[in-house]
Amino acid sequence: MKPRLRFAPSPTGGLHIGTARTALFNMLASKSMGGELILRIEDTDITRSDQKYEKSIIDDLKWLGIEWDEFYRQKDRLDIYLKSAEDLLKSGKAYRCFCTPERLEKLKADQYAKGQDSVYDSHCRDLDDGDIEEKIKSGESYAIRFIVEKGRKIEFNDLIRARISFKSDLIGDFIIIKSDGTPSYNFAVVIDDSDMKISHIIRGEDHISNTARQILLYESLGAAPPLFAHLSMIMGSDGSKLSKRHGSATIGQFKEAGYLQETMANYLSLLSWAPRDGEEVFKIGDIGPLFKIEDISKSPAVFDMDKLNWLNGKHIRETNTEKLKTLLLPYLKEEKILSDSNCNDPVFEKKLLRSIEVFRDKLKVLKDFPALVKGLFASEAAAYSSESRQALKEETSERVISVFLEMLSNSELIIGEDKDTAIEEDEKIAGELIKSAANKLKAEGIKGKYLYMPIRAALTGEPHGPEIPKIISILGKNNCIQRLKQTLEYLKQ
Ligand code: GLU
Repeated sequence: MKPRLRFAPSPTGGLHIGTARTALFNMLASKSMGGELILRIEDTDITRSDQKYEKSIIDDLKWLGIEWDEFYRQKDRLDIYLKSAEDLLKSGKAYRCFCTPERLEKLKADQYAKGQDSVYDSHCRDLDDGDIEEKIKSGESYAIRFIVEKGRKIEFNDLIRARISFKSDLIGDFIIIKSDGTPSYNFAVVIDDSDMKISHIIRGEDHISNTARQILLYESLGAAPPLFAHLSMIMGSDGSKLSKRHGSATIGQFKEAGYLQETMANYLSLLSWAPRDGEEVFKIGDIGPLFKIEDISKSPAVFDMDKLNWLNGKHIRETNTEKLKTLLLPYLKEEKILSDSNCNDPVFEKKLLRSIEVFRDKLKVLKDFPALVKGLFASEAAAYSSESRQALKEETSERVISVFLEMLSNSELIIGEDKDTAIEEDEKIAGELIKSAANKLKAEGIKGKYLYMPIRAALTGEPHGPEIPKIISILGKNNCIQRLKQTLEYLKQ
């Protein structure tokens, strides 16, 4: 029999980081064992489930690169749960419970006041058939409870945490069908996992205590439970459970901020797992048989934003320029750098590709890109930063700008504007131009930062940044001339 694993999200919100990691680990484990993966939407909680969340979860799973072999929705299987509950009623393993929410609340409060554990007192277990019939006839609603034998120890070997045991006295008879006719989570999950022949369950540690109830249900169905592996939780850097308080908590939020799919899948895989060879940067598709459930750590994982940013930088550098351009387009549109008037312009396209090459190494998240290049696509330079104003104040700056302006204006070159000239070629020519200016000014005793800082400040508003020929090749000759003239005006004021 092939191993069969499943991933079972509840569509009650977006795809949270923790749930995404569970999905990924299930896929990696099933792939490494040559097994099959099932996606099952657990949508029986009618008040909290929403179709829009199902859609966003599926979209985000696909974006992450998770692939599954079979798909189910629990809502389509309600009859199956009811039929199984009926069978348990018939065999005396379950009973109808007519307790009102008020009675249950009171029971809980009394138990709390006496310092007792909150366990259902089996009040309805011994109702006779006549009582039951009468209550049903008079329209009283009921839930179906599963009988839990007292005095039992329930044990299982967790693949990540070794042996775990529970006392049945602390569980009490639990609900398998709620009074609205829908199954409880524990019941639906066992009916499904058993029907779907699931062999391994990898899920969050918040389900450890449910496992005891689930093992009892497997017993009642005469089925062997699958193997369980409970993942430790993911903490924020402050040591508390990762949540919205730490900024982004769903895959959708990270996607929007400009983390690459490759980064997220790579990073999530490193939360409680590491490849044996210690190599931390990889594509998820390359892990293959390296992923072993036994290698998952039981200590809590810490979500480290610095490491995520570092990893995103690595993957950005490994992404080819064309693909990066496609990924950057929405951000460029949002910042109005890309517009209806330039979206089909080959010169714009050429400059954009070059600026991606120039700024790629500086980029941590895609969302930062527009701010880095905005000045290069604007018709005017950005306002001078205070450091720029400082550089321009030097008494030699006016001379530097004038010389360079003259040389650039007189050059026969059409830097960056000619559709047929490769931008790399323009960059070489601009480099020559800078060299000539440097030679000329050196004779006047002007060199180093006194040469480069004012030119850069004039062209971009910042005295530091990429090499000047790169800037020139993206800006284009005319725009450079205009900015240099503007700076001379500024210096005259
Ligand atoms: N629907 C449950 C959840 O989202 C799945 C639990 C399980 O994997 O058994 O937490």
